Amino acid sequence: MNRAAFIHGVRDIRIEPFDPPVGSPDTARLDVASVGICGSDLHYYKDGGIGSATIDTPFVPGHEFSGRLQADIESLELSRGQLVSVDPALPCHTCEWCHRGHHNLCPNVIFLGAPPYNGALTHSINVPRQSIVTIPESMTADEAAMLEPLGVCIHAIDLAKPRLFETVTVLGCGPIGLGILQLLKLSTCGPVYAVDPLPHRAKAALQQGADEIGDSTDAILDATSGLGSDLVIEATNSPNAFVDSVKAAKIGARVVLVGIPDGNDYAPLSAAEARRRGLNIKFSRRMGNVYPRAIELVAAKKVDVESLVSHHFTLDGTPDAFAMQDANDSELIKSIIRLDQ
Ligand SMILES: [Zn+2]
Ligand SMILES: [Zn+2]
Repeated sequence: MNRAAFIHGVRDIRIEPFDPPVGSPDTARLDVASVGICGSDLHYYKDGGIGSATIDTPFVPGHEFSGRLQADIESLELSRGQLVSVDPALPCHTCEWCHRGHHNLCPNVIFLGAPPYNGALTHSINVPRQSIVTIPESMTADEAAMLEPLGVCIHAIDLAKPRLFETVTVLGCGPIGLGILQLLKLSTCGPVYAVDPLPHRAKAALQQGADEIGDSTDAILDATSGLGSDLVIEATNSPNAFVDSVKAAKIGARVVLVGIPDGNDYAPLSAAEARRRGLNIKFSRRMGNVYPRAIELVAAKKVDVESLVSHHFTLDGTPDAFAMQDANDSELIKSIIRLDQ
């Protein structure tokens, strides 16, 4: 009997029998291998939704995943048992934003693992063939699942456009903040300051190459003689994210907001604080065309996505994984559910 992890409502996740829908010639069936738990999944668990995307009926989360094909796909030159990654986003390709190349902003997108579309926390899943991402043989199941969050990091860097030797602050040292940090270290930006109130996450940033760490933006202001940094990239779940980003930003700086705040609201922001600094502020939404670069970065060992994975669970351990993340466990950075073990 195939089973899946269903989010029923706030802090209510259950492992239950699940019959995947019957496939079509446009889909392929996978045995799911690795599924990453994302901060967005945690919002569905903690808040019962993200903004207007609410859980009306129990749904299966999981949009960062890899799996093995149950049958050959000749048109893609893929064979049974082969490990592949999956791009969870299926944009419409017909709307104004798709035509402009902003597929990540498509309002008609089908996104596997966001309500009402079930995701990959199940042993067996049908995915659209066009969503299959072919990966090098050397890639592991965890690496293949981590291509999606790495893509989010790449998109944030694309928006941020780090410049030579400028100072950068990364707010939030979860998997996305740390992934962004790894990418920043590949650029020729100047010192990178990393901030997280959780000591183990700030420490992880130090291990991953941050030049200085702190538990709040005050530490960054101390380190920059009160000036703040030229570029701030935010990847937290804090309602104070916007206020903190502005505070950490130098006059004339650029700010990229990537995180999703708990409860979906930002704390009130002083208009004068942001306006007088003349800040250039961008919001990052999922990702653009990033998979080829994500694959290249992992295959060439330019980034180490497995170093972001701190915990593994089986499907039955999924409720524990969510509870640990919710409780800000003192060791946890990123959980992966292994469905093939
Ligand atoms: Zn995600
Ligand atoms: Zn579209």
